[in-house]
Amino acid sequence: MRIESEPKLDFDDVLIRPKRSRLKSRGDVDLRRTFKTPHGKVEITGVPIIAANMDTVGTLKMAAALAGHGIFTSLHKHYKIEELVAAKVSTDYSFITFGIEDLKKIDAVMEALPGANKICLDVANGYTEHFLDFIREVRAHHPQKIIMAGNVATPDMTEALILAGADIVKVGIGPGSACMTRAMTGIGYPQLSAIIECADAAHGLSGFICADGGCKMPGDVSKAFAAGADFVMLGGMLAGHTESLTDEQLQAVKDTGGQVEYYGMSSKVAMDRYSGGVAAHRASEGRVVKVEYKGDVKNSVQDILGGVRSACTYVGAGRLKEFSKRATFVIKK
Ligand code: 5GP
Repeated sequence: MRIESEPKLDFDDVLIRPKRSRLKSRGDVDLRRTFKTPHGKVEITGVPIIAANMDTVGTLKMAAALAGHGIFTSLHKHYKIEELVAAKVSTDYSFITFGIEDLKKIDAVMEALPGANKICLDVANGYTEHFLDFIREVRAHHPQKIIMAGNVATPDMTEALILAGADIVKVGIGPGSACMTRAMTGIGYPQLSAIIECADAAHGLSGFICADGGCKMPGDVSKAFAAGADFVMLGGMLAGHTESLTDEQLQAVKDTGGQVEYYGMSSKVAMDRYSGGVAAHRASEGRVVKVEYKGDVKNSVQDILGGVRSACTYVGAGRLKEFSKRATFVIKK
């Protein structure tokens, strides 16, 4: 056993220090970025926020709404190929999510959807050799596609995923609002430090990271970008909108008002729905959270983008790309 005694930080432990700036207005800030992937040398352009691949967030309706703002969606993995084809998903802004073992499905979806070039390989624990082998296999089948893979929370494994074939590494073990991993297993890593350390590792290999989980308000999204995240994935902040609900849920909430369910993809609710219940050898590592119905997602998008633009203005960053270089964190207390 070993103890690491260097302090590690979460979003709530820090603030971003304001700096003198030449910017006149937050309207001057450009939030779009273009990245060139390390493996296929493919360009990806947009506002680098991604709706999480959860069935209460990463829906086809959400993808259609967010694409209008240049924001990405990682569609949840339970859509059938026919549903994806019929929906004519915006391939510019949609990642399509797959689990481990889905190689045949990946091949079939990529063939059926002309223009689809963004694959999200999502497992709860990205630390297994099996997952690295899977990434290598997907990369061999799809040399020109953009592969985002995770989750991990440490620089060693960020590098391993990139070397195996990932372009973007999803970073976050345990920070999610519907996550119970830390409570059920004791495993985790404070998210702000995970972002800082993994971004440094990824950038050293010309790769990128997506900070995944733990953002509760627009200021947290700013802190994630300031820490070096290239992309930020949001679950709870985008849940509870018109676009995240089924037609029946929407009707019910419009009739009676109130709250809607947001649940983890490893929660009992999700496992009952998609895997025939919680398997005997495992425990649920997700919780069910009630969130207020928040109306159309465009209102929350305005708040989030307005908050990040304002943060950029406070440190004099005219482009999101410059934000992390100009940011200094101060530790509260
Ligand atoms: P949020 O933005 O709500 O804080 O976090 C969203 C992220 O939580 C997702 O993108 C995913 O990485 C993670 N997540 C989703 N469902 C579960 C779950 O059931 N268990 C755990 N451990 N993490 C989850």
